[in-house]
Amino acid sequence: MKRIVARKFGSNFYRLRIPWRPFCTDASQILSRSNAGDPKKESEGQQYDIAIVGGGMVGLALACSLATRPLTKHLNIAIIDSNPALGRKHFIKKEDLPDPRVSTVTPATISFFKDIGAWQYVERHRHAYFDKMQVWDYTGLGYAKYNARDADRDVLGCVVENKVLLSSLLSRVQDTDLQKKIYPSRLTSMSILPNCSSLEVDSTLSVTTLFSHGRLVKLELEDGNSLYAKLLVGADGGKSRVRELAGFRTTGWNYSQNAIICTVEHAVENHCAWQRFLPAGPIALLPIGDKFSNIVWTMNSKESSEFKSMSEDDFLKAVNYALDYGYGPHPTSSLLGNADIFSWFKGDISRSANDCFEIPPKVVKLASERMAFPLSLRHANDYASKRVVLIGDAAHTVHPLAGQGVNLGFGDASTLSSVISEGIAVGIDIGEVSLLKKYETDRKPANVMMMAVLDGFQKGSRDCYYFLEDLHKCVSGC
Ligand SMILES: Cc1cc2nc3c(=O)[nH]c(=O)nc-3n(C[C@H](O)[C@H](O)[C@H](O)COP(=O)(O)OP(=O)(O)OC[C@H]3O[C@@H](n4cnc5c(N)ncnc54)[C@H](O)[C@@H]3O)c2cc1C
Repeated sequence: MKRIVARKFGSNFYRLRIPWRPFCTDASQILSRSNAGDPKKESEGQQYDIAIVGGGMVGLALACSLATRPLTKHLNIAIIDSNPALGRKHFIKKEDLPDPRVSTVTPATISFFKDIGAWQYVERHRHAYFDKMQVWDYTGLGYAKYNARDADRDVLGCVVENKVLLSSLLSRVQDTDLQKKIYPSRLTSMSILPNCSSLEVDSTLSVTTLFSHGRLVKLELEDGNSLYAKLLVGADGGKSRVRELAGFRTTGWNYSQNAIICTVEHAVENHCAWQRFLPAGPIALLPIGDKFSNIVWTMNSKESSEFKSMSEDDFLKAVNYALDYGYGPHPTSSLLGNADIFSWFKGDISRSANDCFEIPPKVVKLASERMAFPLSLRHANDYASKRVVLIGDAAHTVHPLAGQGVNLGFGDASTLSSVISEGIAVGIDIGEVSLLKKYETDRKPANVMMMAVLDGFQKGSRDCYYFLEDLHKCVSGC
């Protein structure tokens, strides 16, 4: 028994700061001992099991997911991000105006949030489930309507402000027993030395010895702090410093289009997701709760600077025009093809043949600033190397108009925490590249597929889109 346990958990022994007990079979307990509070270690730089660089939605989702798995909930985690919101537990006030940045979250993401205990926090704030979608185009040739009830579902998705998602994940992570420390700073450099196989790893080894034998990665922060971890997770967004420092190459390009986003108010509540194809690109109107909706409007960069700076009145007129009779007539038959950006929400839902075309509710007020985002696609050729792994936008950035980026990132967070848990169960060092490549193998096909769909959509390559839409339904299962 003793030999089996020793073999199983041998590679993790150096994390122990107490004498090993021969008949302890609980891997999570073994990993729970950290060097926190050990003055010798502190002077050398704190040691963690995992350092998550980037406390955005995806980085915090990973922390929550680790906190809820039996084998990972005792890990010692550092979260590095200079966003001041991470220093506060509840940073949303009821009277606050809506965030112009929102995310349409899929049923798969909602299930993930429920699993990690974060959805109950989302439900305390403004959010909007939607059960209907209407897609049409300016030519008047046709429209398509989708209804959750056609597939025996309650909802097609939910639109949530990004600050609500972030605050919910933060509250959840703070309410768990996860040993975590938030560093309000930014990563500036990192170093990893080659593995020295001759090292007999045990609990007496210092942090610097472990580092010099390739068993830890060292992180240097902007504020002068340094720390060590067995695994560094880059969750630091599209311009990832981790990706750059670790030398991951990327493939991608910028589109010659921008998305204008903002939140608007109606006189009545909106419960439907609307999308209309205009000559320059689609405009989407997404319900976010109360009488608010979010606009995501794709156009060329010259138009986007005009629409961003025009008066509120002119902008509201332009939005109402674009969502109603502007550019062309209302459609008279439900003939539109399947090529719409909401396809992944629908999953197995077919069109509602009997639902009539409707005009979206009028926009009466601008409820947030207008923001313009350039559209681009970027994908890291690899997600994992020794002791380093990328998740979320650090691994893949898709253009925002389809509202898929963070859903893909949540999928990464879920899979990575599961792979780390599997590694602990069989006693593998969680920084081992062979383990981390399992995560990459699992996530890359789904992410690449989605990126191809979005790129085909962006370029108007509809044949490619029809084909990939079907393929995507197979891989997403949402
Ligand atoms: C206009 C727009 C609309 C979108 N709408 C949707 C939508 O409807 N649905 C959807 O699924 N997705 C949407 N997306 C995409 C979504 O916003 C991103 O996929 C998501 O924000 C990625 O989350 P992340 O946590 O990976 O990265 P980020 O949100 O970029 O977070 C990265 C974090 O890392 C921190 N950081 C950066 N560098 C460092 C460093 N050196 N050291 C420490 N910390 C660092 C930052 O402070 C930040 O907190 C949209 C994107 C845009 C631009």
